[in-house]
Amino acid sequence: MHMLDILARDARTASFEFFPPVKDSGWDLLFTAIRELEPLAPSFVSVTYGAGGGTRQRTNDLVLRLKRETSLDPVPHLTCVGHSRAEIQAILERYAAEGVSNILALRGDPPKDGSIPKAGDFPHAADLVRFIREFNARGVHPDPRGFGIGVAGFPEGHPETPNTLRLMDHLKAKVDAGADWICTQLFFDNRSFHDWRERCDLAGIRVPVIAGIMPVLSVANLHRMADLAACTHIPAKLMRALQRCGDDAQAVERVGIHWATEQCLELLDRGTRGIHFYTLNRGDATQQIFRNLGLKSTASLR
Ligand code: FAD
Repeated sequence: MHMLDILARDARTASFEFFPPVKDSGWDLLFTAIRELEPLAPSFVSVTYGAGGGTRQRTNDLVLRLKRETSLDPVPHLTCVGHSRAEIQAILERYAAEGVSNILALRGDPPKDGSIPKAGDFPHAADLVRFIREFNARGVHPDPRGFGIGVAGFPEGHPETPNTLRLMDHLKAKVDAGADWICTQLFFDNRSFHDWRERCDLAGIRVPVIAGIMPVLSVANLHRMADLAACTHIPAKLMRALQRCGDDAQAVERVGIHWATEQCLELLDRGTRGIHFYTLNRGDATQQIFRNLGLKSTASLR
């Protein structure tokens, strides 16, 4: 379903992010998690795209399996780093033929091992958004509106643009190029999100903004995340709670799920348009957050 229709149907959205398995042996485990989460009837699910090349085909494979084997509506991420126009065009044509309705358009980060060339035909995500809009205008997609287009937002900043005014200009450029919605980087401090959200308003950004929430499920995963989502503020209160857990892995999960639940409660109270759960390919944690929120499924948010 086109994102504009999803947003018109769901007063608040809840969506889940999955990443394709790196090895063939990972498919069964991933689909167990997907089956656990399916009854929560998310507004959509998104599938990450490995800027590193190796898992790119698997994004398409997972999107197709989700379409064919589940009731879920997959939104593929597409990063343009290292891609030529012809390659992006071929990917869009394939997704259009497969009936995929939406794309989350990103630049991506070149892998640190240099396994793909830095340069591509699209220096920034805004260039990719513009290209998808042009593609949409050509009427190749079965939906006359073409793909719904989402972009990334960074409430706590992005390492390459320390100037927050300029970072907002770059977000606005993506919206002006034709983005329909924004999904944020994960954050643990709702105050950052609300302040940034106000700044989006001041910048004239009017498209719906979906907040990215990731439960901390292990300390190792928090460290990986701090690397991937640099600039993310990890509040002392959360750190203290995690430290109290010592090496009790289950206690860490409970703290992480509790923290994410509190974030979601506050976001919903404040009228946030949607919550995107970084599931880490696990079913149980997001299920528990839904239970804590008193939600049987996303339908309760509509
Ligand atoms: P851009 O909007 O292009 O911004 C990248 C940097 O360039 C920013 O610092 C921006 O300020 C700057 N910039 C933009 N325009 C200009 C300009 N005209 N001049 C100078 N500087 C400019 N990565 C993956 O590899 N795969 C994924 O599936 C994936 N999914 C993600 C999903 C979400 C919701 C989020 C928040 C991030 C995701 N990422 C993913 C990570 C993302 O690709 C990186 O954070 C990347 O560094 C920024 O991507 P972007 O789309 O925001 O790029």
